Amino acid sequence: MDDPLSVLVVGGGIGGLTSALALSRQGCRVSVYEQAKAFRPVGAGLQLSSNALSVLERIGLPMGRQNGIEIEKTEVRDGITGRLITRIATPENRHTIVLSRAELQARLLAAVAADAAIELHTGAQMVDILDGKKLVSLTLADGTMRSGDALIGADGAWSQTRRFVNTARPDYSGRIAWRTVMPLSAVPSDISRHTVTLWLAPGAHLVTYPIDKGAAFNAVAITQGDWQAEGWSQPGAMTDLALAFARWHSPVQQLVQSTGNWLKWALCTIDPGMSWTKGRIALLGDAAHAMVPFMAQGAGMSIEDAWVLAQQLGRTTPQEVGGALQKYQTGRQDRVTRVWDTSMQQGKIYHLDGTLRLCRNAVMQTGGRFLKSRYNWIYDWQG
Ligand SMILES: Cc1cc2nc3c(=O)[nH]c(=O)nc-3n(C[C@H](O)[C@H](O)[C@H](O)COP(=O)(O)OP(=O)(O)OC[C@H]3O[C@@H](n4cnc5c(N)ncnc54)[C@H](O)[C@@H]3O)c2cc1C
Repeated sequence: MDDPLSVLVVGGGIGGLTSALALSRQGCRVSVYEQAKAFRPVGAGLQLSSNALSVLERIGLPMGRQNGIEIEKTEVRDGITGRLITRIATPENRHTIVLSRAELQARLLAAVAADAAIELHTGAQMVDILDGKKLVSLTLADGTMRSGDALIGADGAWSQTRRFVNTARPDYSGRIAWRTVMPLSAVPSDISRHTVTLWLAPGAHLVTYPIDKGAAFNAVAITQGDWQAEGWSQPGAMTDLALAFARWHSPVQQLVQSTGNWLKWALCTIDPGMSWTKGRIALLGDAAHAMVPFMAQGAGMSIEDAWVLAQQLGRTTPQEVGGALQKYQTGRQDRVTRVWDTSMQQGKIYHLDGTLRLCRNAVMQTGGRFLKSRYNWIYDWQG
């Protein structure tokens, strides 16, 4: 019998851990190299819709009410007046859950730890890659070298793997994301603690929902600005945020000011239209196609990528890895580009001002059925 395919995964984020599990389920041996010394619970809340949940189920991690909170509807409100614009019900057969990124990470890590075919190395920063004819090798910051049949760059928007594949660079979107998690008791009584609420205002929006099975409350604000910094989490200056929300509905202002614990991210994108693969190397998740978060699909797309990539590598031989990685790209690029474009358009719609803002609200008020089914093409995808 042939030896199992050996795959090196750079990055232990949601994409890297999911691909390790999906690859192991396909009979591959996997080594994951994560630069962080330990896994810290960063990143606040996440929405996962039925497309991503179907993959997690297929790799043995079904996520339901016991893991997150199932969303039955999303309320859309005007951020300035607080007025309800519309309620969008989640179709019964398209589950969406909200949970903390830490909860998802903990489940992925527990499954990885229980899997004898996966080695997970922390404090392991990849600094170099050599793509050879028969094998691909990586070098870590401490000088250690490791080789495998394929290398997956799941190392996020500021990927170091990407420079061995294409010339794409993170492009600052002009938007800043602010995220916080607060105790439920800190949430002003006028704000729903049980639903996902999308608050829209000119140049900014806010998404609020409960996480940790209702024990905590997640808020993500997106504002415009020219601040830029690499990485996941930087402490945010409260005064900047309070200023951005100064004209908002007063319960929202109270919510914003109820914690000083906001972390901020410069939202960057990666052009999804470039090559995702070269030789024995492939990019996955944000490393290949970081997108703005307005459709809440970034993690979902990295989970889908992981599934499709594993299906291709699971069927191949060490000699045909390059062809399998090309098929992965062909199978994914159109869909991801469409989600990427839709997310970008959604951001413009959310932040409209003046007459266009009023037109948007009117369309949302009357178009409930249309809004409910408009994105079925995203949620209907199945692993
Ligand atoms: C405000 C906001 C809200 C969001 N909300 C949602 C949502 O509701 N739903 C959703 O699906 N998505 C959401 N997303 C997107 C989602 O968080 C990302 O798309 C997803 O986390 C990307 O996962 P990834 O594994 O590709 O990259 P990352 O999570 O960035 O992981 C990359 C990993 O690689 C490691 N690494 C980097 N360089 C190296 C190296 N040289 N060597 C070794 N390791 C390295 C990093 O330490 C990190 O652990 C949101 C994003 C933002 C900013």
